[in-house]
Amino acid sequence: MKEKILIVEDEKDIIKMIEYNLKKEGFKVIDARDGEDALDLALRQYPDLILLDLMLPGIDGLEVCKTLKKDPKTASIPIIMLTAKGQESDKVVGLELGADDYVTKPFSPRELIARIKAVLRRATEKEKLPEVFESGDLRIDFARISVTVKEKAVTITAKEFELLKTLLKAKGRVLSRDYLLDSIWGYDHAMEIQTRTVDVHVRTLRKKLKSAAKMIVTVKNYGYRFEAEEE
Ligand code: CA
Repeated sequence: MKEKILIVEDEKDIIKMIEYNLKKEGFKVIDARDGEDALDLALRQYPDLILLDLMLPGIDGLEVCKTLKKDPKTASIPIIMLTAKGQESDKVVGLELGADDYVTKPFSPRELIARIKAVLRRATEKEKLPEVFESGDLRIDFARISVTVKEKAVTITAKEFELLKTLLKAKGRVLSRDYLLDSIWGYDHAMEIQTRTVDVHVRTLRKKLKSAAKMIVTVKNYGYRFEAEEE
């Protein structure tokens, strides 16, 4: 799956330019024109990276950054700030608030893409899964695509394995149904019947996991989270 980038910018021409160049590189692109929209999309779509302009109407970029980094649901999404010359102090504040990098306008598409790739690389390195994951009764071997509970092999479908892996990779973070649907089934716009697909798969997966089922925690009206057992 290609990474999804959220562009937060109120200037149409800049969005168009960035979107064109990112799509050419194979990224999926979504955009928000103001801070409120950005916060909403970040929660519902769970992008892999956010390009955040600091000068926005309404809630400004720094405020958006602060809110995203404070919320455990969105804190780990990397943020690259788009700053203007003369915004040096904002840039520093942004980095202190947890933004990962910044690009100063005007920038070349090449520079922007190089920054995006570097930040994404660092983020995936952090999220790398171990070859084998063990917690409580559960053991997952990612290389062999095998799951065992209390040393008994569990028959698991490809989608169920993908679901388990995606939840595990997020390590305790809540993932929305929309996000799971999009990353595992590849639907862009989740309708009710489709979001139910996630619930159905979680239900069968839990049944199969037996004593380890409690590690998949339901977050009401939102989605799911993987919670490893305390050692
Ligand atoms: Ca702007």
